[in-house]
Amino acid sequence: MKANDFTQNAQQAVAIAANQALLASRQATFAVGGCIIENSTGKVLVALHNRVLEPSASQAQPAFRLHDPTGHGERRLVDWYFDNQQRLALPPAHELTVITTLDPCAMCAGALLTAGFNVAVSALDTFAGINHDGRFEFPGLPAALRLRAQATWGYYAVGSPFDRDYVGPSKGPVYAGERIDAATMCLTRSLFEVSVNLVHDESSNAGLPPSALKDPITLPSRSMVRQALTGLSPWSLRIKSADPRLPGIELAEPLVDTALAADTCNAVALLDPFGNLLACLGGDETRSPIRTAFMETTRSYAALRWNLMNHDDPQVRDEAHQHLTHPRYCTFVLLRFPDPAGSEAVMTLGAYGSTMERHTAPSFPSSLQYVLLPTGCTAKDVARLAQNLPPFYTSNAQVAPCQVLDPNLMQEVTTRLGQAQCSEPAAG
Ligand SMILES: [Zn+2]
Repeated sequence: MKANDFTQNAQQAVAIAANQALLASRQATFAVGGCIIENSTGKVLVALHNRVLEPSASQAQPAFRLHDPTGHGERRLVDWYFDNQQRLALPPAHELTVITTLDPCAMCAGALLTAGFNVAVSALDTFAGINHDGRFEFPGLPAALRLRAQATWGYYAVGSPFDRDYVGPSKGPVYAGERIDAATMCLTRSLFEVSVNLVHDESSNAGLPPSALKDPITLPSRSMVRQALTGLSPWSLRIKSADPRLPGIELAEPLVDTALAADTCNAVALLDPFGNLLACLGGDETRSPIRTAFMETTRSYAALRWNLMNHDDPQVRDEAHQHLTHPRYCTFVLLRFPDPAGSEAVMTLGAYGSTMERHTAPSFPSSLQYVLLPTGCTAKDVARLAQNLPPFYTSNAQVAPCQVLDPNLMQEVTTRLGQAQCSEPAAG
């Protein structure tokens, strides 16, 4: 079965997602797949799989494969939906179900809850899954989102010899209460388990360590790497912080200017280990509500790097390899951290965790920083959200966001935003 076919039951729906996981496995990326089903008809709207690692037809041997740390199946399904909603006159998200082979990670859980889909799951993920303890209590979600997940997400029953009961609401997810074959659930689980460490290793080791890198500020103006960075962000390589983990007033202008031109008055600065501002980007939430400043920044930089590392010209490949750091060695500075009670905050921390993949070295201050918090929120609220995430985020990725330490940066940003009368985005 494929897109535009009609499913009749949970088994058929999960089989489509499982087939996508097989395709992901063939591509040697995280073996996770999913599809969107229309609840009222069983119609398959689309089926997609993970594309964190992407093959390239370039002459680079071996091809550089880390393409998009956020390229998970569910996040791609959410973006597909918003890219096609008008053109295909798609039903509202609450009339659809995202079927996934694996319990969604924090980023995808945040994305799915932001978009408002029903969700149905085959295999659990005890390490990074948002239902990692299998109790359907979603301890990693803020309280209001737990209730929403419990009302709209379901975990299909699994037949003998597992005899797992269905967990979830009786209405909401398509084929709520139904059972899938043990063989299908085992396939979805073991495909992922085989892929997970291989992909973690390949994506974590993709590129030179910071100590072996050359400073991209030395690149001549005709350099393809420099031109690609400038194409991504006009601020690229124009600002340098003395210490990327201690950004100062130099980031105020790029952050505020970028935010004022963006959809929701937010921006993210990406600093490399030399302190260079590699990019400063806003969100594209009009296109898709999950295209936030943070998501756009980590995705766009990874895609730029993938393109240059696979460029047909070996000189460009070499230049990229020597000058462009893996994003896990970067510092991300958010102009505003999202409301820690909302789904965007969960998605942001999850996407940062996926970008890190693995803990690098003890880092203080954190490589995830923010200048401002929503009114009424404290740094403790943000820290608590991070500390409650599934084990992958607290142990492997060590997600620990903090506020920038320089009061002058906070003051300058506040003054500039006040002058521009840029209002705070609504909480939630
Ligand atoms: Zn995910």
